[in-house]
Amino acid sequence: MFEVILKGHDKYYGVSDVLRMFFGVPEEVKDEGKVTAPDGPDIRIINELLPDGRSVTYYGDKAYEFEGEVLEPGREIKRSLYMALSDITSQKMPWGCLTGIRPTLVACEEKDAKALEEKYFVRPDKAQLAFDTSREEQRILAKVPEDSLCVYVGIPFCPSRCEYCSFVSSDISCHMDRLVNYEAALEREIMMISPAVKSSLSALYVGGGTPTVLEEKEFASLLDCIYSNLKIMPGCEVTIEAGRPDTITEGKLLSMREHGITRICINPQTMRSDTLLKLGRKHTAEDAVRVYQKAMDMGFDLINMDLIAGLPYENAEDHVESTKKLIELAPTNITVHTLYKKRRARISREQVMDHYKTRGELDKCVADSYELLKEAGYHPYYMYRQKDTGHGLENTGFAKGDTGSLYNVAMMSDCRDVLSFGAGGMSKRCFKQEGELYKHRVERCPTIKDALTYIERVEEMAEKKIAFFQI
Ligand code: SF4
Repeated sequence: MFEVILKGHDKYYGVSDVLRMFFGVPEEVKDEGKVTAPDGPDIRIINELLPDGRSVTYYGDKAYEFEGEVLEPGREIKRSLYMALSDITSQKMPWGCLTGIRPTLVACEEKDAKALEEKYFVRPDKAQLAFDTSREEQRILAKVPEDSLCVYVGIPFCPSRCEYCSFVSSDISCHMDRLVNYEAALEREIMMISPAVKSSLSALYVGGGTPTVLEEKEFASLLDCIYSNLKIMPGCEVTIEAGRPDTITEGKLLSMREHGITRICINPQTMRSDTLLKLGRKHTAEDAVRVYQKAMDMGFDLINMDLIAGLPYENAEDHVESTKKLIELAPTNITVHTLYKKRRARISREQVMDHYKTRGELDKCVADSYELLKEAGYHPYYMYRQKDTGHGLENTGFAKGDTGSLYNVAMMSDCRDVLSFGAGGMSKRCFKQEGELYKHRVERCPTIKDALTYIERVEEMAEKKIAFFQI
């Protein structure tokens, strides 16, 4: 078992984050002042924060300390710990000692990509990716007025559950009545809250789950409810996640077009039909192409398509091939996700983490995809990481021209208020802080996750949000 003794600080969370990258799930043993990694080698080290703000990590007679600018304590202890672990294991992480979900926030603070390499040991390609993306995020964010509101409407139901997903989505195959009641509750919540909403909407995202799992009648009714109750400003970006091609009908596309939906997501995840079927998705790659072409023919010109690198049953070449196929289709946005282990997913952490025999293979296939996308005229416009993402990699949204999603950027920035409707939604208010350019203080207001409880307690949820926004 690997042990890190904390000295002069109590940043268990930060120590855990670094340990996780090297040895898997850590355990915080606070009464003994240490964090352990049961899957790591039998080694004990000391991670100290000195009174002058510098951090040193000791292993035997070795001391690891960065010579240069001292960072704030949370980053400082991670950096010296990373230096020690990297030396002990002879491993370097693509994102160096950056463990947070938003490396672009750190990149915003720096004048060039080189600073990320030097201060945080970020690999040059990732440093450049974070730096370029951070500039694009800032450019897009400037298009979202500070006093406007972003709105999320969540439909936590799917036609079946994908093997890798632990989302609180209910498989609707046996719960059709639940879906109808849920949609009605959602309308009730929108109608209760919207009279009190003063701000206009700059970006609206209907996500899930799979919103297009609603039958045509309920789907149209929900769009009517949204458009007739909320103040949608001219030019507002409205995205519908139509993730599963098997749920998209001509009637729903017509409904979206009539309501003025500006952006849709059709997510194949891979262009291998055999993988899709093994994963429990009830559609083929050909279905995704057919629906994409239908949507284009009907005039939808802003379409995002998602891919996942590191899927079970696939190797690196399969992912690269899928990227090539999407590039041929030429949607305006392509988002490349890296598979990560969600807690309640059917597949195990081992299947996620060890599927690609080496970090290098997954890393290379993601890098190859990015290269292909850039050659085809796409550029990264937003990115984030998730805990337990396969080998510490990231998810990156690519766009052609000026088509990057306002909602994605605004939501990830934590710089714009978000009002969420539906079970599991997280509303947030973001407050500017003195002296901080990019980092706002954020207050959050969660909504109950269970769809059935949400239906029963929708009035209470609505009142809570009205009070939260003081509207
Ligand atoms: S479509 Fe998305 S939310 Fe639904 S089960 Fe699959 S991965 Fe999960």
